[in-house]
Amino acid sequence: MITDYSKTLGDLRKEETVRIQNEDQLYLRQKEANRRLSNAPSRKSCILCNCRIEGREFLHRNVSFIACAECGHIQSKALPPEGFPDELEGKEQFTKIYPKLGKDEFEDRKNRIYHPKLNWIFSALERSGYEKSELLKMRWLELGSGNGAFLSSLEDMGVKEYIGMEKEETLIKRSKTFVASERVSHSTGSLGEIIRTNQAEIICSFFVFEHDEKLSELINALKDCQSGTLLCFSVPMFGLSCLLENLAAERYARSLDAAIHVQTFTDESINYFLHSAGFQKIATWQFGQDALELRRILIPQSPEPGPHDKLSEKFSLSLDRIQTAIDKSDLSDQCHLIAKKV
Ligand SMILES: [Zn+2]
Repeated sequence: MITDYSKTLGDLRKEETVRIQNEDQLYLRQKEANRRLSNAPSRKSCILCNCRIEGREFLHRNVSFIACAECGHIQSKALPPEGFPDELEGKEQFTKIYPKLGKDEFEDRKNRIYHPKLNWIFSALERSGYEKSELLKMRWLELGSGNGAFLSSLEDMGVKEYIGMEKEETLIKRSKTFVASERVSHSTGSLGEIIRTNQAEIICSFFVFEHDEKLSELINALKDCQSGTLLCFSVPMFGLSCLLENLAAERYARSLDAAIHVQTFTDESINYFLHSAGFQKIATWQFGQDALELRRILIPQSPEPGPHDKLSEKFSLSLDRIQTAIDKSDLSDQCHLIAKKV
């Protein structure tokens, strides 16, 4: 098994600046979502293993969560109501949070965030014995292809057969500005249905599984994949960022916010997920954004210059070193993985 660590946090400078600018507004939305979730009835079965849910309950930012005793997956105790939390967002809000990117911005984001993902996938698979030419010929499928940045990276790499599936129509429309329109399709079905219909050789999905309320169905579809099928994915983890945001319940949360994220993976739940789907881990890439969260939560934002500025500057220069220590201690808030169907 290959284990790689870390990636420079400078790649996320732009996203972090926008997040800090919108923090107060984002926090109010989360608070309203949390209020509605707390009024919802309890879930009966686990999102991941589908067992009747039992396990250790805990409060995270004043919202009840439960760690399933069977598979270790962490999820809100309450079952999110239909449409949650999207009904809070009007069309205007959606475009504010996911602004339409111009060609240059798209290329910039692709180069900073998606090229490194694909380069890592190729590098890890080549170190595992695959030939680059063999990978370029495979049938690739991306679940949740967003604005098409990963699909466009596949095109740049020279992959011949690939397709992305996305359920948000605004994003599909935008992705067609950057990738050929036959490369992206509107998906109305579940992740499991998409996998069964497309029969891909490499299935990729970045930060999508944690938004699915029926992961047990995804497991069943993966179980039926052909031997040798590759799965490349990233998910948020119950890591240092979760501990930090729990200490700052009156601030915006980026990880387990009980609004956009009502569930998160643990080492145990990832192992359960892969094992029950019949997949074996080939490689992991551990890098998180915990150091950015540590800086955001510890250092107050003030329009006036003050004594914190110097500290903030020193902190910023050390971000990568701090994050590397967190990643190497297996405490990071996310994980990229490659697994192979046995
Ligand atoms: Zn479970």
